[in-house]
Amino acid sequence: RTVYVNGDYLPEDQATVSVFDRGFLMADGVYEVVSVLGGKLIDFEGHMIRLKRSLSELSIANPLSDDDYLEAHRALVDRNAITDGLVYLQVTRGNPGDRDFAYPPAETAPTVVMFTQAKPGLADAPAARSGWSVVSVPDLRWGRRDIKTVQLLYPSMAKMEAKARGADDAWMVEEGRVTEGTSNNAYIVRGNTIITRELSHDILHGITRAAVLRFAREAQMQVEERSFTIEEAQSADEAFVTSASAFVMPVVRIDGVPVGQGGVGPVATRLREIYLEESLKTAV
Ligand code: PLP
Repeated sequence: RTVYVNGDYLPEDQATVSVFDRGFLMADGVYEVVSVLGGKLIDFEGHMIRLKRSLSELSIANPLSDDDYLEAHRALVDRNAITDGLVYLQVTRGNPGDRDFAYPPAETAPTVVMFTQAKPGLADAPAARSGWSVVSVPDLRWGRRDIKTVQLLYPSMAKMEAKARGADDAWMVEEGRVTEGTSNNAYIVRGNTIITRELSHDILHGITRAAVLRFAREAQMQVEERSFTIEEAQSADEAFVTSASAFVMPVVRIDGVPVGQGGVGPVATRLREIYLEESLKTAV
């Protein structure tokens, strides 16, 4: 694979980052994941808008122009011949040359790393036909989950707990209400209404979420942005999650309880089709 480090395209075994990089020592950095379908970047603009917001919330200077980000994404997709897959982009506060809790001087250059992952057949994942099972875990993350930081240890632990309990993912719960999945936003469906937690510091503002809610409204579905409990989700007609890499993924079991009829429902199926069709129209 060819990867990108600070403006250079290098074979992955020649790419290096300092041991003093704040990303490595402090998880002081942010990231984005953009899906590639048919060689094109899905929801690219939305991901770049959120990247700039995450950087600004952490006072990390944005190191590249919009055009540079697009060019680097396209160059990696081309050089690695990615038809279906994803591009991972990470920006950290860079290498201050030592370890210190205080931020380094503003002129310290951020570190930009990008790489691709090939995922042939990404859009027709078999899991979309069978649906995921999820288990609930307490949400033990920090209080600024709206910033997409590389601080992913707790979601990793939650994913491992889900696997240990025979499930595909975990839904995190705080004060009795679902926040989100380990790497996706969570939804339930009641009749013609889609319910998902409102935006706040408690969840990541999913780019796929924004698109799916817009398509749902355009398709005359009702949208309620509010939190819900695991019990309400278990007794809903359907449940699903959204993310850049899973698109719209049905959830068919929650803590071992079948949701609705226990199979993949029509609303999740339809929203997945609409999302894939519409987002390809604006892919770049
Ligand atoms: N919530 C969390 C915690 C995530 O990590 C992600 C994606 O990685 C999402 C939600 C979904 O966001 P997006 O649709 O922008 O991929």
